[in-house]
Amino acid sequence: MERDTGGIGDSGGSRDSEARQRAARRDEAVRAAVEQGLLGPDAAVVGLLDVTGIQESAAALRAAFDAVVAPGTPVLHAFAVKATPLVPVLRLLHEAGIGAEVASPGELALARAAGVPAARTVLDSPAKTPAELREALALGIAVNADNPQELDRLDALVRTAPTRSPLGIRVNPQIGGGTIGATSTATPTSKFGVALRDEGAREWVVRAYLERPWLTRLHAHTGSQGIPPALLARGVAETYALAEEINERAGGRQIDTLDIGGGLPVNFAGEATAPSYADHARLLAAEVPGLFDGRYGLVTEFGRSLLAKQGTVVARVEYAKSAGGRRIAVTHAGVQVATRTVYAPQAWPLRIAAYDAKGRPKPGPEVVQDVAGPACFSGDLLAEGRALPLLEQGDFAAALDTGAYYFAHHYAYNSLARPGIHGFAPDGSGGVTFATVREPQTVDEVVAESGGAHADALTTLRASGSR
Ligand SMILES: *Cc1c(COP(=O)(O)O)cnc(C)c1O
Repeated sequence: MERDTGGIGDSGGSRDSEARQRAARRDEAVRAAVEQGLLGPDAAVVGLLDVTGIQESAAALRAAFDAVVAPGTPVLHAFAVKATPLVPVLRLLHEAGIGAEVASPGELALARAAGVPAARTVLDSPAKTPAELREALALGIAVNADNPQELDRLDALVRTAPTRSPLGIRVNPQIGGGTIGATSTATPTSKFGVALRDEGAREWVVRAYLERPWLTRLHAHTGSQGIPPALLARGVAETYALAEEINERAGGRQIDTLDIGGGLPVNFAGEATAPSYADHARLLAAEVPGLFDGRYGLVTEFGRSLLAKQGTVVARVEYAKSAGGRRIAVTHAGVQVATRTVYAPQAWPLRIAAYDAKGRPKPGPEVVQDVAGPACFSGDLLAEGRALPLLEQGDFAAALDTGAYYFAHHYAYNSLARPGIHGFAPDGSGGVTFATVREPQTVDEVVAESGGAHADALTTLRASGSR
């Protein structure tokens, strides 16, 4: 779990150099952020996004599938917006040829604000209201029905108005979970999709298609971090087999597109991108050979694997202290930006990098210490008992691989303000240039979002109620 070491070098030089370059860009960006005042006493925590890295990641995803699909196969890579729900990120990905997978009215609005066209958007939530379904069908957005009741709603909508939306059903192949329960979506009792192995369910799904020629897609997303790629491939194989069965019984190619979900795990233990998209596409090609032969269009929904390694939370060390013989760096990054890591540290460990007060990587010797956050509960630790160069007052601690499901997922504990997020790129003359992705939340905004406009709502309610 130390900086820039573990995990590099498992498959040749280009992967090594990609990882090294990413680490070098990050170090440059931290130093430039301090120099340019984006980080300092008045901005004690920020999120940084590596624009070059995001573009490389999008290109690697596209190239990996281009290398295995039959020429001419339509492939839509739809970024799972929940991983990094930031409009400028969605716009950058759209420009890099990546669409959007959305799961709420808010996420759909973000994708639209980013300019992602309806034809490159997929709606997948497990709790879509009639209004959401109506809007999606009016816009022509692809929808995967989660369950029989939702399919009833689609029946009614399809009867009343024609739609361009490609429509499908989400199934749960029930192939089992991974090492993290909360991100395992293919357990026997998962809340997502039609549970395929339940009694009568498979036949129900087949009949649902046979009775509805407008159902042309089939969807499964069998889990996220903690699911080994081989298990993801099994989920895809089961989905493919079901599509083949439906098409055979339909006597044609009713299902023309398979949506294979996302879920590729991220290496949080080292710098290397492992597994890579190329690894995963080759695994799918080996395990599910028919998938890529051109008979099916494809949709993917990767989230974490596209963005995690492109983001870094950097926080100033406000105080360095010691308790019971343990060194503790009290920083400004804790549960509000790394909620999963703080509440479930075994499942979501993060690498921490130490930088000095000028934003330069801090040299050796390593000292076992806690890297704590600002929140008022003792479990608010980014890392516990971690060996790192000793963090001192005014230094910076960086939580690495936090570009997905971290700093864009603010948790309002202690009314801690949402940090600003900055994208960075080379400035063309050896330096680093930044762009605002999200403004930091102000304390006035915290008050406004906490009922500030209704300060006397409860006291006056009591006064009128007592009469
Ligand atoms: C969360 C989610 C994804 C993305 O999962 P990652 O692990 O971030 O790749 C894709 N599809 C659906 C339906 C999801 O719920």
